[in-house]
Amino acid sequence: MDHFTLRDGVLHAEDVPIPAIAAAVGSPVYIYSRATLTRHAQVFLAGLGGVPRKHVAFAVKSNPNLAVLRLLAKEGFGADCVSGGEVERALAAGMAPEGIVFSGVGKTAAELKRGLEAGIGQFNLESEEEGVELAQIAAALGLTARCALRVNPDVDAGTHGKISTGKAENKFGVAYDKAAGIYGRLSALPGLEMRGLAVHIGSQLASLEPLEAAFTRMGVLMQDIRVQGDNVTHMDLGGGIGVPYKAGDRMPSPADYGAMVARVTGNWGTTLMFEPGRVISGNSGVLVTRVIRVKPGVSAPFVVVDAAMNDLARPALYDAWHDFIAVEPTGAQMVANIVGPICESSDTFAMGRTIDAVGAGDLAVFRTAGAYGATMANTYNSRALVPEVMVDGDKWAIVADRIEPATILAAERVPDWLD
Ligand SMILES: *Cc1c(COP(=O)(O)O)cnc(C)c1O
Repeated sequence: MDHFTLRDGVLHAEDVPIPAIAAAVGSPVYIYSRATLTRHAQVFLAGLGGVPRKHVAFAVKSNPNLAVLRLLAKEGFGADCVSGGEVERALAAGMAPEGIVFSGVGKTAAELKRGLEAGIGQFNLESEEEGVELAQIAAALGLTARCALRVNPDVDAGTHGKISTGKAENKFGVAYDKAAGIYGRLSALPGLEMRGLAVHIGSQLASLEPLEAAFTRMGVLMQDIRVQGDNVTHMDLGGGIGVPYKAGDRMPSPADYGAMVARVTGNWGTTLMFEPGRVISGNSGVLVTRVIRVKPGVSAPFVVVDAAMNDLARPALYDAWHDFIAVEPTGAQMVANIVGPICESSDTFAMGRTIDAVGAGDLAVFRTAGAYGATMANTYNSRALVPEVMVDGDKWAIVADRIEPATILAAERVPDWLD
């Protein structure tokens, strides 16, 4: 559920009519609803009511906006970061360093050092080599790095191949059958406090079964590691719950997820950690766009909108579906192809879809764009970087400026030896 609803025939973000924001900020523009974000955060925590000791770290990569991170910090969330830049954002948003988990398959020595000096709560190691390097850096600084070992459980998440991360052939984590040995060797290194295991098998999971299979395997591994004499006090279960993008999508609820987790982990005796992204941020945002014009096509007309694949990459990247609805629907419908202005055929949001009838100048939104939306935006075709707005009741504010092409151009140089 979200807080983008029609009132008197006009789509509102909470109590703010979307045309008012578009008139002031222009389009395309992302709009986030504070009430929706807060609600999703609270529903997720409530779903974990049966888990006595837990820490929830929001997957920053799904929506790294500073205002979003600040809001989630106030709800008691930490941050799951996958780069030094994300760590800086989480700290800038006021997240406690102890609440930050530093994940990522390619953390550099400089990033590891920065994380240590900042007092990051947990490093999720993706290889033995990374652990050895972190141990050396920590020992040289006279610090101890709290660590979990990310394990690849070789479970098929049943999601899109580009967002599957838990199959043996994926780059993430260490092989399941090597994990206990690696854990034991890393536990012996000065500078490291090995305290747990981490797993994350993929994103936009429509079923709890692969998650349950992965967690069950992790529980077995945890016992093996304890039997060999090493400590396991924390288990990080990652993120991955899907959200409905289209009518009829059935997704696991946070309550069902929490019940499954409580059942599988009931006798583990560890603190559980979670890294939800999409399930918190997905439904809390829309991408507002204006129809530039409608041109004829072979089987359906092309609705050319001013948002493009550089603003919302998911359809081009993962063939993802985003509902498209008019901001002031007339009740009439049309069948159309929805495309952006970029010079690529992949700049297509929908083909042959039945949508609200729209014409040149009309505003519309792509729904469920709060996760993996603005965060993936770029300036391809020398387009502006899309701005972001947050709404709270009848208040709203720009939370990320539109970065105009002129600003980007000003950062480029022509060396004088070219002339
Ligand atoms: C992307 C990612 C997440 C979040 O995934 P969602 O599907 O958005 O919940 C969590 N943990 C790690 C390590 C990730 O890479």
